[in-house]
Amino acid sequence: MAKGAVTFDIETCKGCELCIDACPQDSLQLSPNINAQGYHYAVLVKDNCTGCTNCALVCPDAVITVYRETKKGKVPVARVTNVTENITVTLTDERK
Ligand code: SF4
Ligand code: SF4
Repeated sequence: MAKGAVTFDIETCKGCELCIDACPQDSLQLSPNINAQGYHYAVLVKDNCTGCTNCALVCPDAVITVYRETKKGKVPVARVTNVTENITVTLTDERK
């Protein structure tokens, strides 16, 4: 199983928990801390992320970037942008 990681734009997160429900690894939780908007934001709490991209694909606010460890190092494999206009989903095949 691929070794993955995620990063969050915590100031954009609204704490909806969709990513937490979508994670098959139970890798995510809401932080006890709040961001500038007053929301508890999602954070990675376990070292078992596979880089499956589920969390990034369900996030309505394009907060999450998913990375996978490859022979070339850690590369981004999923980032969702333009959620208020035409949605753009970028998936990268790390085997290339
Ligand atoms: S990439 Fe997959 S395993 Fe990793 S945090 Fe997101 S949903 Fe969980
Ligand atoms: S789905 Fe997005 S907005 Fe919702 S808690 Fe997760 S990172 Fe935050």
